[in-house]
Amino acid sequence: MIITLRKQISSEERNQLETHLGRVTGTYRPTIATMIDEREVIVLDDSQLDKQALSAISQQRAVERVVQVKTQYQLVSKAFKTESSGIQVGDAKSSQPVTIGGADAVPVVIAGPCAVESKEQLISTAVAVKAAGAQILRGGAFKPRTSPYQFQGLGIEGLRFLKEARELTGLPVITEVMEPDMVEIVAEYADILQIGSRNMQNFPLLYAAGRNRFHRPVMLKRGISATIDEWLLAAEYIVSAGNPNVILCERGIRSFDTQTRNLLDLTCVPLLHELTHLPVIVDPSHGTGRSELVPTMSRAGIAAGADGLILEVHPDPTSALCDGRQSITPEQLRSIVYEAQIMNQLMIGKTQHSWVA
Ligand code: PEP
Ligand code: MN
Repeated sequence: MIITLRKQISSEERNQLETHLGRVTGTYRPTIATMIDEREVIVLDDSQLDKQALSAISQQRAVERVVQVKTQYQLVSKAFKTESSGIQVGDAKSSQPVTIGGADAVPVVIAGPCAVESKEQLISTAVAVKAAGAQILRGGAFKPRTSPYQFQGLGIEGLRFLKEARELTGLPVITEVMEPDMVEIVAEYADILQIGSRNMQNFPLLYAAGRNRFHRPVMLKRGISATIDEWLLAAEYIVSAGNPNVILCERGIRSFDTQTRNLLDLTCVPLLHELTHLPVIVDPSHGTGRSELVPTMSRAGIAAGADGLILEVHPDPTSALCDGRQSITPEQLRSIVYEAQIMNQLMIGKTQHSWVA
């Protein structure tokens, strides 16, 4: 159950509410109390409360509304917020702001190398992805690699290069953070914090990203074998820690087949739009592991209703230090951006015209 409080309540009204909640719930122990859209919300376990108790809570003066949510995830649910959330990325001072998701959203393309390899590689890719029409630059400074002997990223130096690339191109940047203690430093440089697949259930990291003092949005990638409910509950950790700006990213799940790196689960896109108000973007690069499949699966992602794409791009994929096999060239990116726009026009047409049965 979610109790949203009125914007400005007196201390007397608050005390009254707390005393009341104490009375009906035994001892007043909110599961979580946080701020969403400048309003305090209290999430409470309502499993022991009867109808009468629930209606008495909604009549408290401090209370604006009470919503009963039947799923374990609460704040990210569609039951709590029916309109899709549009998430603002970047600030006009240092980059060109972009909105991901929300009503009438145009799909956003995030593109760049898997890893920041050098200043030259990042800057030349940033310039090329901007020219190809991407709106956000990606690039990993801290790389979670399967083997300890693989390139682990340039670390802080990589963050500095990302900042330079933003200054040069005006593109907001997204980069991965792997540890709770690194959240603030990464948030200082990045416009979006990426939480990778391997860390989807790193709860201290989710909390830290939820409380980052720069209020950066978080892109939460689906865990390698995470169910949709586990993924939404991971997003709930970030939101309940005080950061409502979470973007979900489908990047493929582990399957039995070895032809592709992962199985890109596009069914989850329309399904998530039923379950949550958070935007959903699709990553066909990690979802397939093969650059030749990326254009088709990008179109498929948009057709499934994705709010955007994240694509790995390298000026010379064969020499990439990380994920070259799935990286496309800037020229290929240009066609994908174009096709995403056409696809989106078709989708808008679908909702506006009655010629679709
Ligand atoms: C990445 O985006 O380069 C990455 C490591 O992604 P994932 O966490 O989805 O494997
Ligand atoms: Mn990668």
